[in-house]
Amino acid sequence: PITIYTNEDIRPGAIAGQRIAIIGYGSQGRAHAQNLKDSGHDVIVGVREGGKGWKNAAADGVPTAEPAEAVKGADIIAILTPDMIQGEVYRDIIEPNAKPGAAILFAHGFSIIYDRVTPREDMDVILVAPKGPGDLVRREYARGRGVPSLFAIERDATGKARDRAMGYAKGIGGATGGLLETSFREETETDLFGEQAVLCGGAKELVMSGFNTLVEAGYQPEIAYFECLHELKLIVDLFYEGGVTKMHEFISETAKYGAVASGPRVINDETRARMKEILEDIQSGQFARQWIAENEAGKGQYEAWLKADYEHPIEQTGARLRERMAWLHAAKSEAA
Ligand code: NDP
Ligand code: MG
Ligand code: MG
Repeated sequence: PITIYTNEDIRPGAIAGQRIAIIGYGSQGRAHAQNLKDSGHDVIVGVREGGKGWKNAAADGVPTAEPAEAVKGADIIAILTPDMIQGEVYRDIIEPNAKPGAAILFAHGFSIIYDRVTPREDMDVILVAPKGPGDLVRREYARGRGVPSLFAIERDATGKARDRAMGYAKGIGGATGGLLETSFREETETDLFGEQAVLCGGAKELVMSGFNTLVEAGYQPEIAYFECLHELKLIVDLFYEGGVTKMHEFISETAKYGAVASGPRVINDETRARMKEILEDIQSGQFARQWIAENEAGKGQYEAWLKADYEHPIEQTGARLRERMAWLHAAKSEAA
């Protein structure tokens, strides 16, 4: 099995004295910058004046500069802007300003694997990807814990790449949660596959198709909503806490029999063949080309597909039912 590195496995002072520039102060940038600063590192955040990131960074009290200024003099430059604009951010802001032998650090390998960014030969190319959203990365760190994280070395130009990746990962709390080594290719392809086939794409279609099937058969949409969407959380929580075994332990005998008898009729050889096609499109670069072309064409198809999701009847049904779920509104105001 894979080695899981923890804080003791990281060379003390792995990135001592190195200045870290964080470009982008969104979900990941905000968490990385604050955690690294609290870990005692010299952090500067590159944000566009007047933007949301700029306002949040000021509110959090982290040092900021214009993105190009932040890059100058930095030893490690974390590019934490949306993947689709990393090409231009690299070209306009990082390449002309990065000092020789600096490291460029990604939280997802997309730009490298699909040749959107080609870092200068003198630069280390590394990756640190927490396996959770930014707010969890920050919250767990603040509690003295951490979110398990992946790291990868694409190019070690200086001999310091490994220390830099592991030192940075430790600084955000990743080694408290456990650090796993991967490659840019494995991280990118598995991340895209997971979100498309299983998590965001697969789960959403499964829920909506189940809802449609019940409503088309004449059942009330509110009842269909509870059975196909609402209760999914219970099941996912059981998976998360104890895997498939824990789910089977907690559901009824009838649910368990139905699960093993009928589940394979929904997800069958046909579905698995489609999953394989999706993976092949990711591996060949076909998916990336399609998504990049969609961006260049103005995202019309993307917006239309999203609109269909937002206007699906399950959304109206759900909004009305969720108004009655006081705990959801309480959680929202606590987070704000
Ligand atoms: P967000 O969309 O949350 O953050 C975007 C940030 O980038 C904002 O601060 C924005 O600035 C800034 N930005 C946008 N355009 C520019 C520009 N032209 N110049 C300078 N700054 C710009 O990004 P995420 O945190 O979601 O994603 C960052 C990376 O992390 C991606 O590679 C993603 O794949 C990866 N990742 C994300 C995870 C997540 O949970 N979200 C999980 C693991 C990896 P402004 O505020 O001024 O608009
Ligand atoms: Mg992912
Ligand atoms: Mg992803």
